[in-house]
Amino acid sequence: MNRTQAISSPGAKHEHAPSLADVKAAQARLAGCVVRTPLVESDIPVANDRQLFHKLELCQNTGAFKLRGATNAILNLSQERRARGVITVSTGNHGRAVSYAARKEGLRAVVCMSRLVPDNKVEAIRALGADVRIHGDSQDDAAEMAEGLVRDEGMTLIPPFDHPDVMAGQGTIGLEIIEDLPDVETILVPLSGGGLAGGIAIAAKAENPDIRVIGISTKQCPAMYESVKAGRPVNVPEHESLADSLGGGIGLDNRYTFALCRELLDETLLLSETEIAAGIVHAFEAEGEVIEGAAAVGIGALLAGKVRPAGSTVVLLTGCNIDPELHRRVVAGEGPDVAERAAG
Ligand SMILES: *Cc1c(COP(=O)(O)O)cnc(C)c1O
Repeated sequence: MNRTQAISSPGAKHEHAPSLADVKAAQARLAGCVVRTPLVESDIPVANDRQLFHKLELCQNTGAFKLRGATNAILNLSQERRARGVITVSTGNHGRAVSYAARKEGLRAVVCMSRLVPDNKVEAIRALGADVRIHGDSQDDAAEMAEGLVRDEGMTLIPPFDHPDVMAGQGTIGLEIIEDLPDVETILVPLSGGGLAGGIAIAAKAENPDIRVIGISTKQCPAMYESVKAGRPVNVPEHESLADSLGGGIGLDNRYTFALCRELLDETLLLSETEIAAGIVHAFEAEGEVIEGAAAVGIGALLAGKVRPAGSTVVLLTGCNIDPELHRRVVAGEGPDVAERAAG
């Protein structure tokens, strides 16, 4: 970690991780800007005698929770920064969130991506009003272009997870869960970069230190899991997964989310592709919910017996942005390698 870097990083207003007060401020700021999503009872058979709930971030605008963090970060920018616009290199849920939030606030948004990004993803981002810039053959090339625009045009980079305003925005989910279910004991959270799990844990543990927060990742890209195990941020090889939104590393220069996940998460665990597929199928067949792979890890972990619900348990369903053809094939039981075949 490099202090100077932290302070001079564009858009970083504070150099410390968010507190409960920051998450509460985010909640006030976001009221009316994002959907306050429902908490509904679920009846997963493995947990019949327990109270189990689903928190439905699939009902969020843009189809995923990332709108909370992106909107909070954008609403926190100074007038001068707003005038210069925002930028990201994400083509997934974070890219959609930044594009949507920027348009709503009347800001310019640029999304940099490589030539290899599929047309449907490019179009989805463009449809949200972002200025798509295509450069090079890799995510690194796209990131380089974004750095250039930050330097030359003073645009503000909105990172997908390792940023206090982003984490505070995601943490508002934790406050809503506690408002709706004051006796919640366990929250199951999909885990990738850790902005979501870290933000929720900050809010939940400050309200009640006994609430357990469990982070669940895919075996195909266990970056935070391996980092927590190693005691420092590490790189892991990344493989195709049904939970594509859980891909990517945590950054060797990680500033906030690694330390928070290490300190606050009660447990981190990994799921196989078969277990994630089972979560998608169960959500669809038993509860009529279309969810993407990343959102299915909580249900998948319960079905696999990897977490035993104790007391009131909330499973966070983070998003619904899955290719309809891939979803159809998973529900048709075409096997856990379906993600690879869809990609090929
Ligand atoms: C980004 C994302 C996650 C993981 O959030 P992190 O803050 O990166 O841990 C989980 N589910 C969905 C649908 C996402 O888009």
